[in-house]
Amino acid sequence: MAEPIPVTRNDQVEVTFTDLTQGGSGVAKIEGYTLFIPGGLPGEKAKVQVLKTKKGYGYARILEFTQISKDRVDAPCPFYDECGGCHIQHISAAGQLAYKRDIVKNALERIGGLIGIPVSETLGMDDPWRYRNKIQVPVAWQNGHFAFGFYKKRSHDIVDMDHCIITDPVIDEVVQKARRIAEEKGVTPYDEVHNRGVLRHIMARIGSKTGEVMVVFVTRTADLPFRKAFIKELTETYPQIKSIVQNVNTKRTNAIFGDETKTLWGRDVIYDQIGDVTFSISARSFFQVNPVQTEMLYGKALEYAQLTGEETVIDAYCGIGTISLFLARKAKQVYGVEIVPEAIEDARKNTELNKITNAHFEAGKAEDVIPKWRDEGIKPDVIVVDPPRKGCEASLINTMIAMKPKRIVYVSCNPSTLARDLKLLVAGGFEVKKVQPVDMFPQTMHVECVVLMSRIV
Ligand code: SAH
Repeated sequence: MAEPIPVTRNDQVEVTFTDLTQGGSGVAKIEGYTLFIPGGLPGEKAKVQVLKTKKGYGYARILEFTQISKDRVDAPCPFYDECGGCHIQHISAAGQLAYKRDIVKNALERIGGLIGIPVSETLGMDDPWRYRNKIQVPVAWQNGHFAFGFYKKRSHDIVDMDHCIITDPVIDEVVQKARRIAEEKGVTPYDEVHNRGVLRHIMARIGSKTGEVMVVFVTRTADLPFRKAFIKELTETYPQIKSIVQNVNTKRTNAIFGDETKTLWGRDVIYDQIGDVTFSISARSFFQVNPVQTEMLYGKALEYAQLTGEETVIDAYCGIGTISLFLARKAKQVYGVEIVPEAIEDARKNTELNKITNAHFEAGKAEDVIPKWRDEGIKPDVIVVDPPRKGCEASLINTMIAMKPKRIVYVSCNPSTLARDLKLLVAGGFEVKKVQPVDMFPQTMHVECVVLMSRIV
């Protein structure tokens, strides 16, 4: 028989917070029954009011704190309470790093059964603000106004905002300038209910090393009205702008980009560098959003790969070849595989751009291409994987085990699937040597990790 629910709607109870969810909400238990309560931090106590109860869990809101965590700070952003972009501005920088390490450690223990593995302190930023090199802001017609800002938590309403303190200051200004031009000229915002209007998103990106800026207007219509005025005013105010691009998305969809992209002014791409490798970045290319921490992350991956110049390396889930090219200079051969064909085209262009001759790229699923490489006689000394949130396919794990590399470097953006996959690799004869969490997204609950495994059999 199901346990009775110990509280009902509108009850007022005192709780002790024990945990944080993936979205940064507080978690407390009453007689084993879980309540999700936004705003609470582990160790804190509060009087709360129950809002809703379901079979296994319920929701409540904080009425009054009775004990405050030492990690609590005032969130500096004026839009923080409403905006869905950040989750944990109310936790100190040191507190955020400690929580992220705990998340990794707990996942390894609970899901991976990996007890007693040393997990290093999270590598954080000296200044965990203004780090994003890309901002993409929806434009909408909202309550009779031109609204420009990020979506509210779990909603498609926009929090109108005039700055974002996790975004690079130049592009933060550039998108606001573009917004003002659009408002002054009367360019109509997109109306998603009726699929009408013109302007859907304004995006800007900056090469942190080069300072080059790209601006992208996503429109529903084939033309961007007042195109010349946008170009003139933006480029006169910001000489850093090297590229202005329009993307046309006619469909009623949550996807930001449509299929057609045209350059309105300047180049099709901007350039940036990671380490000593130069990358060309087009409007739709994937590129890591925190350049400072990307260097940390790839630096760790390189350290863990322990390359002497003699190794054959496979980089699975290689995207535009960022890790592959970063490693190529120190390896004999690098083979990269990635499912998106355009990303592989970018990877090849970037290889030429950097005059790298020992990197080879193939488009396809890692779980299909790597077994094929194995049949062709490719014997990797090191395999690097950097999969999306769902982790590696079980079949790929089996291929990795069968290929017997000396080392595996696992870069992960999801501790749960990381733990699941490490457990399989351990069963397949590998040992977890080092686990390094890296804070790629300060103020959010996301945590990235690099793991070194060595083969023991
Ligand atoms: N290593 C890159 C990108 C990592 S993101 C970087 O650091 O920039 C994960 C990548 O895996 C994405 O580019 C995604 O398109 C790709 N991907 C997803 N499923 C895949 C699969 N089954 N096989 C190969 N690549 C895949």
